[in-house]
Amino acid sequence: MRGESGRTPGIRDRDSWGRTRRGAATFRSAAPPRLATACAALALVAGCAGPQNGDAATQAELASVPARHPVFPAPERAAGADLQALVERVHASCVALRDGANADYIPALRDADPEGFGVAIVTVDGALYTAGDCDTPFAIMSAAKPFTAALVIEAVGTDALVERIGVEPTGEPFNSVTAIELHPERSINPLVNAGAIAAVSMLGADDVEARWALLDDHFARLAGERLEVMDDVLASVGASNHRNRAIANLLFSYDRLYCEPAEALEAYNRQSCLAVTTVQLARMAACLANGGVRPSDDTRVVDAAVIDEVLAVTCMAGFYDESGRWAYTVGLPAKSGVGGGIWAVAPGRMAIAAWSPRLNGSGNSVRASAAIREIAQSLDLSLFRLPQDRASAAPNPTTTESTPR
Ligand code: GLN
Repeated sequence: MRGESGRTPGIRDRDSWGRTRRGAATFRSAAPPRLATACAALALVAGCAGPQNGDAATQAELASVPARHPVFPAPERAAGADLQALVERVHASCVALRDGANADYIPALRDADPEGFGVAIVTVDGALYTAGDCDTPFAIMSAAKPFTAALVIEAVGTDALVERIGVEPTGEPFNSVTAIELHPERSINPLVNAGAIAAVSMLGADDVEARWALLDDHFARLAGERLEVMDDVLASVGASNHRNRAIANLLFSYDRLYCEPAEALEAYNRQSCLAVTTVQLARMAACLANGGVRPSDDTRVVDAAVIDEVLAVTCMAGFYDESGRWAYTVGLPAKSGVGGGIWAVAPGRMAIAAWSPRLNGSGNSVRASAAIREIAQSLDLSLFRLPQDRASAAPNPTTTESTPR
């Protein structure tokens, strides 16, 4: 399957929310000159540059993918980078990867089509670029966890998250029981199963339906539409989640779960089984890239104050025992799920999402990881890089002065 129309969609005629060009505002004004120069340099280095900002072709490119923010276009768009060509190129190169295997500990995930593969970018000014199967629904699984962490911090405060769950990386697999026994925090961080189950238990609710309603509404706000629970996957999870039951009971025994284990698990399982498409996942992550504001309509959906905390813990723990390698090679906060979805955020710039079911040994999608890595490296998105205008003005980067004696 190649997207809604049976082909790799070229999305120049709709924005990230599916609106047609006719209905959407078009972008007309130029980016701030310093930003534009920096971004043009960046895009040229990235090998995906379009024309420099300010010339007619750039204006045409910006206008062709409508966005809502005439004052602050996403830097790469201001620079004229051809993001549609980039996602198509990356999709074409990563589709050749056939390593890994579907998650098999949840039967419904084992049966998903392993060839499905979508790649999407949503910029902070709301433009969408897609390639491949971006409209195929899949179970969000752990890619939901940072969004829930944001809701929990909003509800109980940043100190409570640190004290009652923790924010340290485990260096262990996502469903590690050993980590619970080894670390005095027990749940350790909200992105491993233990911490994520503890996170839903911290929401102020008296029963499972009230707890679920808080989560369901939160995800609907992020996506800009209500998401459905995949009933077949939920039934499959319910019949096979002995390990998570053990984790919830263990946390409860250590006073590190804050409602009944069965209630926390049910809410956690429904959250894990929310159906998302690659486009929806990119839109949701774009809210985090955009400081908590949904790019489609400027609605605040996450408190601005919690974004840096959520992205920091995501950077440290989003890829489980591969988080260090991910930060080392990509340099962006990103979250994976065993459904095969991954999102990454370049703050103030864009969100990238990709999906393909085959996973590596750490539970991270092989194709989706590779696609996001390739896009991030092409656009120089790493958080740890000097901005291009500073970098090009600096002395020769390959020589260091010898230590003065
Ligand atoms: N719901 C899955 C589980 O609890 C999520 C794991 C994941 O996506 N890494 O096992």
